[in-house]
Amino acid sequence: MSEDIYQALSRTALLLERDIFATADHRPIVDGLRATTARIIANRANTDSVAGQTALVTLYAQLAMMGLQVDLDIPTIDLVLGQPPLRGDDLEAALVDFSEDLPPGGSSRPAAVPDITFALGDTPALPTSVRVSGTAWQASVAQVGQAGAWRGTMPVGAMAAGAAAAADGLRVALPRIAERLERPTPVEAAFVLDPSRQVSVDLSDFSVSGPVRLGEVDVISGGAITNAALYALRRIPDVSARMRVLEPDALDLTNLNRYPVARRSQVGMLKAELLQTLSAEGFQVTGLPVRFDETTLPFIGALAPRVLVGVDHIPSRWCVQVAAYDRWVCVGASSHFYVLVSAHPIGRPCAGCVHPRDDSTLGNIPTISFVSFWAGLIQALEVLREVAGTPKAVTTSTNVWPLGLDGRRGIQAVTQSAVAECPTQCRASRARRRQIVGV
Ligand SMILES: [Zn+2]
Repeated sequence: MSEDIYQALSRTALLLERDIFATADHRPIVDGLRATTARIIANRANTDSVAGQTALVTLYAQLAMMGLQVDLDIPTIDLVLGQPPLRGDDLEAALVDFSEDLPPGGSSRPAAVPDITFALGDTPALPTSVRVSGTAWQASVAQVGQAGAWRGTMPVGAMAAGAAAAADGLRVALPRIAERLERPTPVEAAFVLDPSRQVSVDLSDFSVSGPVRLGEVDVISGGAITNAALYALRRIPDVSARMRVLEPDALDLTNLNRYPVARRSQVGMLKAELLQTLSAEGFQVTGLPVRFDETTLPFIGALAPRVLVGVDHIPSRWCVQVAAYDRWVCVGASSHFYVLVSAHPIGRPCAGCVHPRDDSTLGNIPTISFVSFWAGLIQALEVLREVAGTPKAVTTSTNVWPLGLDGRRGIQAVTQSAVAECPTQCRASRARRRQIVGV
């Protein structure tokens, strides 16, 4: 295999090394992922709607970014709506073309016998298939029970279902990796494919209906979480926005394991420029290739009324929160297999209260596709709810553990509280804040 594939999957290998296998040898980890085949089957009734196509594209992309081989068994059908970054009209051809342009070596070299089969909606399938189904705002992933067909144009349940199912793609790859490392297969329940596992995710707390005008939104970082948030917002019907993305870096090969709107042929391109290509009628994305810090603030100018923060570096989150003390701020964060998304209305506990300590680690950050995706998806839903949904009675953050979605710890609301040691001093008087942090 080309050396590039080890580079492209290095962050995923790092996560599996740190959290599961405790080995510094990444090659067998990557080889195991590449030797795993997932098949996705879907009939016409489950692929002729926006929701069905979004579930398929999301699951396919999440598996391909993980490095798995993906085998498609779907009818010949055209894309109903644009699914960036796919190109062309024919759904299957567009997916294969995308995967050839994602991990070096592509994802379409499946084994004759797949390690796992996903069946979309109520597509007829063997009972051992994992059903990926849902509705506008709900997602279900299970081998057992009834599943309905994918229908309609609201794709939030579909994106959640694709991301939730991708965890099973990882679970079937783990024995392949263990065998190459000559180590025992992980036995912890979260890491084992369990035929009785039933994932059901209800995101209707975030539901909106009718056109949503987000207006001006600033986005700090054009990284994985922003990629996922824009992937989601761009797919939700009737969302208009003028988004400005601040990101100085260019797309790197090591980003391809988790950036759902990027393609390998765009490596080297400024991320600010890449994300601009998501612009569509009524949905404008402007990229600004600058880093957000105290020195660039004069150039950046006044922040938009709503600010999405996807930056990994914790002191940078504080810096944004300080500058945006009179704005609505939402921070999407992930660490290893966990996600924490927190929205901060003006005057409530701030991003510094939720992330009071700098535990940013030096060096490469371990990541995997579906974890980053959940962070961006929830962040997208938070801004929708803020503008057009039902406000929450108390300010809560959302914790997501994508490997535990079948249990109570899968998606949890956590009450935010102001902390005395808040690095932005959000509870201090204006005069005191001016003294300490300069706002
Ligand atoms: Zn605070």
